Amino acid sequence: MNYMAKIICGKTHAAAIRSEVKTKAAGKNCKLVAVLVGDNPASVVYIGMKEKACAEVGLGFELKKLPEEATQKEVLELIDSLNNDTSVTGVLVQQPFPPQLNKDEILSHLDPRKDVDCLHPYNVGLAATGQGRLLPCTPAGCVELLKREGIEISGKNAVIVGRSDIVGKPLSLLLLAENATVTICHSRTKNLAEECRRADILVAALGRPKFITADMVKPDAVIIDVGVNRLEGKKICGDVDYENCEKIASYITPVPGGVGPMTVATLMENCVKAWELQNG
Ligand code: NAP
Repeated sequence: MNYMAKIICGKTHAAAIRSEVKTKAAGKNCKLVAVLVGDNPASVVYIGMKEKACAEVGLGFELKKLPEEATQKEVLELIDSLNNDTSVTGVLVQQPFPPQLNKDEILSHLDPRKDVDCLHPYNVGLAATGQGRLLPCTPAGCVELLKREGIEISGKNAVIVGRSDIVGKPLSLLLLAENATVTICHSRTKNLAEECRRADILVAALGRPKFITADMVKPDAVIIDVGVNRLEGKKICGDVDYENCEKIASYITPVPGGVGPMTVATLMENCVKAWELQNG
């Protein structure tokens, strides 16, 4: 029988979170600084969204730009100055970085208490062991979407396609902490379609437009589409073949308007938590 999945509206849930954050942020002088090296057009758009969200919830925001050819030393010096500036309570360094830069060294250089993207190895470790105050934004946003929709996670088979450090890997740990049985797939996974068909909760985070097709989806599965792929022109689409998968799934997130707004809303939450970490 063909029916349509319920659309999980990330925009609505994210708006509710931003409103909660606005209340928590009142009276705290939170200030987020975004560091952008170069002018990657997608990064410029993402930073614009974060700036807008900061304005909406009442957080200070500043953009620090470095040229595309910035050296590792210049980036580390800027981070040092932000770490030492007590008026700055959150720092994010927008990725991807130009190829001359060492990503791991840059992320490890952040003050962990200001690391609102939760990418410093110390924060990654805390999040992995269930002790994190600052949570990885996109993975935490995905889990929050499921919870706010009232979707049971415990005991479910969750299959994540993608094992990146910012999405797939940390999401696997958060879902495990919610008592899901988790499988992580990647480019070397054999029988990917078969793995996906075992999913009660299927997360697509691979960065391939419309890669997850209807034959890879178990009837009534919940689909979380993390992918953001730019098609010709300005149109964007997810990693899931939405038009066909929505006829099979029980719930599905749209792109845009699904996971993306939740990532930004979680970042706003982290900005307030970072302020709290620095101010007792
Ligand atoms: P990434 O670092 O490029 O990682 C992609 C992952 O997908 C890798 O683990 C890769 O496997 C796997 N993969 C690639 N092709 C595959 C295939 N044909 N079959 C199975 N696995 C495959 O990407 P990312 O940073 O995690 O981002 C993933 C997507 O999410 C992108 O579209 C990105 O724009 C989007 N994103 C959205 C948000 C948001 O807020 N909505 C936030 C972050 C990212 P290997 O490890 O084996 O190479």
